[in-house]
Amino acid sequence: MTSLDRPHLFIGGEWVPPASTETIPVENPATEEVIAHVPAGTAADVDRAVAAARNAFDAWAGLPPAERAAVLDRLHTALAARAGDIAKTVGLELGTPLKVAKNVQAGLPLAVLRGYADLAGRPENSEQIGNSLIEHEPVGVVGAITPWNYPLHQVVAKVAAAMAAGCTVVLKPSELTPLVAYLLFDAAAEAGVPAGVLNLVTGTGPVVGAAIAGHPGVDMVSFTGSTATGRAISHAAADRIARVALELGGKSANVILEDADVVKAVKVGVGNAFLNSGQTCTAWTRMLVHRSLYDEAVSLAAKTAAGYTVGDPFDEATRLGPLVSGVQSKRVRGFVERATARLVAGGLDAPLPEKGYFVAPTVFADVDPESELAQEEIFGPVLSIIPFADDDDAVTIANNSRYGLAGGVWGSDERALAVARRMRTGAVDINGGAFNPAAPFGGYKQSGVGRELGEYGLAEFRQVKAIQR
Ligand code: NAD
Repeated sequence: MTSLDRPHLFIGGEWVPPASTETIPVENPATEEVIAHVPAGTAADVDRAVAAARNAFDAWAGLPPAERAAVLDRLHTALAARAGDIAKTVGLELGTPLKVAKNVQAGLPLAVLRGYADLAGRPENSEQIGNSLIEHEPVGVVGAITPWNYPLHQVVAKVAAAMAAGCTVVLKPSELTPLVAYLLFDAAAEAGVPAGVLNLVTGTGPVVGAAIAGHPGVDMVSFTGSTATGRAISHAAADRIARVALELGGKSANVILEDADVVKAVKVGVGNAFLNSGQTCTAWTRMLVHRSLYDEAVSLAAKTAAGYTVGDPFDEATRLGPLVSGVQSKRVRGFVERATARLVAGGLDAPLPEKGYFVAPTVFADVDPESELAQEEIFGPVLSIIPFADDDDAVTIANNSRYGLAGGVWGSDERALAVARRMRTGAVDINGGAFNPAAPFGGYKQSGVGRELGEYGLAEFRQVKAIQR
């Protein structure tokens, strides 16, 4: 038992005991200590939560948009009051350094929730096509299953959009980082979110996740996580033809063209690749550099990586925290160990704190575009640098991936735009263009199906009806 233990689930507007007394320990990856326990939910808990969400659906879907918006607005106020706690909790259970925990892990979900509170209040726009009236209706009960790397953002991106669309939700957060999701449900209880609209069942993927994905009462499954799990969820939902939205992995390319500002491109590129210890699905983990800038880029990247302070997430000077778990650190070390490319920074022998699941910021140069380093999503602080001959060659290498989630291009505006348009990927930032939380977010190829965030994210949770008169 610890003071951070959360023994309950949130079902039908109340904190309720789970069906089983089994618990899951939550570890601090910087110290390897168990800091809390949460319920190991079961299929019986999922049944209860789905029943509560179904009971709440008609009334929530039938509310005028302005009333749903008012609930989301109160939820935003209650969550914003917990911003400090959110950053601290993510620092404890994931190991995100304080500055990123405040700005991204707490700041981003609050911005997304604010955006959906505003979008929810817009009057429904009914469209006329010939003699048909076209209406948009909520899809029903949504099962939301989320990972650990941006543990509140990924929850809010689903929950807020689904609620704004008029859906009710059963959420299963990652068992590695469940504590921050509890803060959202504390806020929901305080904000008076109507009973059953938002339900929380913690537990493991194979038990609670699988029960949600296969549940006949769940109309849509919205999943963020690995491609392998996304595939299993698609199979489970296919049996009853339930809708699925998937946000999966990535292996994104950062293309530095011959007329780029190479100093800025490398500095921002390394920062992007190592954000959140490289545990970011959109991370630019392949740096593609024109041959004329290649040697300079490799030495700049090596120097930037070597300058990172690795250690305690709660120390203001820390740039890189631990990986989320022992399993993840072992997996990432395996990729580094097997790599045959030229190591220019970090590696397995670099000095690290004694305790905790740390991996040094690592850079490989001369990486073969077909090799494991360039093809597999590593999900750790490992950057691969690859040379290219011209713009066509850059596009070919960038698109040589089974993923297509994000990317960057650096160079003169028109040339960079032309390359960005040819990249088979869901998002591209030109010359460091800022992340836009209202723009559609999602993947091509094995990076996913569907879009999150903003209006496109809301539309995923809607059905379209044609009424002929
Ligand atoms: P994961 O697939 O192991 O787990 C994600 C969630 O699925 C967890 O809640 C887990 O408990 C659950 N789960 C596991 N097995 C399940 C099953 N059989 N049925 C139902 N649910 C199951 O992924 P992870 O390790 O938590 O996250 C890392 C991965 O997520 C990376 O590959 C990363 O790229 C990807 N990711 C993608 C995005 C995106 O938006 N595209 C965002 C973040 C992470």
